[in-house]
Amino acid sequence: MRLIRLLIALLLTGFVVRPSDGMELDATPLGAVVIDAGHGGKDPGAVNRWGVREKDVTLAVARMLRDYVQRESDIPVFMTRDADVYLTLDERTQLANDHVGQAAGRRPSVFVSVHCNAAANVRAAGAETYVYNTTATDRRAARLATRENLGQDFSLDFIFADMRKRAIADLTTRFAVRVQDELVAGAHVEDRDVRGGPFYVLFFSAMPSVLVELGFLTNRDEQARLATVAGQRALAQAIGAAVLAFGTHDLEAWREAEGRDD
Ligand SMILES: [Zn+2]
Repeated sequence: MRLIRLLIALLLTGFVVRPSDGMELDATPLGAVVIDAGHGGKDPGAVNRWGVREKDVTLAVARMLRDYVQRESDIPVFMTRDADVYLTLDERTQLANDHVGQAAGRRPSVFVSVHCNAAANVRAAGAETYVYNTTATDRRAARLATRENLGQDFSLDFIFADMRKRAIADLTTRFAVRVQDELVAGAHVEDRDVRGGPFYVLFFSAMPSVLVELGFLTNRDEQARLATVAGQRALAQAIGAAVLAFGTHDLEAWREAEGRDD
């Protein structure tokens, strides 16, 4: 009897950790995953000569990525959009930051924005993963950022967001490398490497954030893969595997390197 009363007292004072406090999430220290399907609604993104629209590919892959993470883990998943709707880049980062604030507590979360590439050179192929960088890696990255940032200027909150980005730069790079490696090894896409560019959605999201260019809609073979369920699933599973590996391995390594115990 005394033991039971003690347990009740402990429960009331919050000493006993209940399963709802996150015990089921201990397999990964990742707080949440925010998946951002690029473009949508009145903004189709890139449209190729076969009529494949970037906004449809990104939504399909985003949904498969969500399903994969939910099936393979207990990590909370949020989508900035789950329909063919238009969202400003500001709304996307706002949604991401709000969701994560509620779900993750103090555990780091990740943000993945999904896109498709386009180029004048129809032979251009492969996937690339972007992290935020004030200056673009090269001229092509600068042009790409301009296209993906359409209709949104960097203005307010710049300094705070910049400080935040610097603090998690190392963690962000680890995540980007993991995503790119999984895409190349798991989905067998041509490796166009991890790059940096001034992408709006990466800058204002308050967590390690990457923008993935899955492949080129302007390349005949690659667009065929981007437009089919099997091709989309391979890409989604590769990114999903990267999210889980990041949560279980990279985050722990980063904590040790930083001497953190939170
Ligand atoms: Zn795009």
